[in-house]
Amino acid sequence: MVRKELTPPEIYKLLPKTNCGECGVPTCMAFAFKVARGKASPVECPYLSEEASAKLLEETAPPIAKIVISSRGKKVEIGGERVSFRHEDKFFNETALALELNDKMSENKIKHLLERVKKFKVERMGQTLRLNLLALKSCTGNPEIFRETVMKVRENTDLPLILCSFNPQVMMRGLEEIQGEKPLIFSADKRNLLQMSTLARRFKCPIAVHSEDSMSTMIQIIKRLKGMGIRDIVLSPPVRHLKEAVSNLTIIRRTAIDKGFNILGYPTITFSSAFNGIGGKEIWETILASTFILRYASIVIFKNLEEHNVLPILALRQAIYTDPRAPLQVKPGLYAIGNPGEESPVLLTTNYSLTYQLVSEDIKNAGLNCYLLVVNTDGLSVVCSVAGDKLKPERIAETIKETSLEEKVNHRKLVIPGRAARLRVKIEDETGWEVEIGPLDSREIKGFFKR
Ligand code: SF4
Repeated sequence: MVRKELTPPEIYKLLPKTNCGECGVPTCMAFAFKVARGKASPVECPYLSEEASAKLLEETAPPIAKIVISSRGKKVEIGGERVSFRHEDKFFNETALALELNDKMSENKIKHLLERVKKFKVERMGQTLRLNLLALKSCTGNPEIFRETVMKVRENTDLPLILCSFNPQVMMRGLEEIQGEKPLIFSADKRNLLQMSTLARRFKCPIAVHSEDSMSTMIQIIKRLKGMGIRDIVLSPPVRHLKEAVSNLTIIRRTAIDKGFNILGYPTITFSSAFNGIGGKEIWETILASTFILRYASIVIFKNLEEHNVLPILALRQAIYTDPRAPLQVKPGLYAIGNPGEESPVLLTTNYSLTYQLVSEDIKNAGLNCYLLVVNTDGLSVVCSVAGDKLKPERIAETIKETSLEEKVNHRKLVIPGRAARLRVKIEDETGWEVEIGPLDSREIKGFFKR
């Protein structure tokens, strides 16, 4: 069935038309536009009838369904996408990265890996990058061993799980061990469909659909699941070789979004270890995971936790899932670098993540103890914020006040970036501080202070 998106006037017809403003916008028509663009949910209008709400929820749902995988403490959302190309809007839910464990691993090995997963985090451009899920695979085919492994994993982490087995008995024991959670069942195929779908309904969990041979088999399975009332579906298309993987992942996203073919409107799951044999090198996992992320994979499972292999994947994911219209930002405020005291210098910069990152690193490398005053410029760099009038002297004065900076230092000297030199007099007038013009490039901070 081909999906047709509701237009704002069609949505407006279903709204109460009282323009009460309780949904946060002044008119029902403005709300209709927000709902049509996926920026608001119909449930935000408190006066919508149940019937109209259900209809709008159904008809304004994103073309790629949003699926939640959760444990008792954490949840991961995948899918919920509305565009094929990031520049058309933005991507909503980043690819979830999962480490694969299996029930042949010793208890010590599992504990050791989970400890590494816990510690594995990378601070980059003001964000913390980390793994999101664990994929627990039954290699023994023994239900009791699988249950025990699920139990051991759950004792050592609260990350949401993907339970991997084609054997319904094995799956059931795993699900029973973590009742009340919503792990992803991986996977239903044409042989186990009835038993697996029964488990998905009984435990209220999302379920993956796998087909080894063709997309048409996968579509048949999806239709049968939908016929049973199951909506939380994740797709595992045939990926026998790289070309097929890229092609099928692309077909799923493009036909669901661009052609409105809603039978394929679900997030996808891939294994970057699927072709580990190629060249026999771990680097293939990095290459394949990167390729799958670029081709819209919603979950990528990998086996290798070496930092040099995972870091490029995290960085790529961050780059793709950053909203292209909103620069990455750090929180404006006062940051202490090193051990500053009341005589320490005060430097100023903007809240564009990359600028903050570079300046703070250069200050650390220079071995300085100082305060860094980060001013809200809506995430623009120094050059852009000066050109676009976003580095406002009033905002600088406000930030000095809000951070109680004047109580922290016994001087009134502020070092501003060299590229903001033309604001010197205005900043002095607005803040009452004496302004020193710093270097044009933060790499010269060390030399600047030496001089
Ligand atoms: Fe209209 Fe409902 Fe928003 Fe009120 S809350 S303005 S009735 S859409």
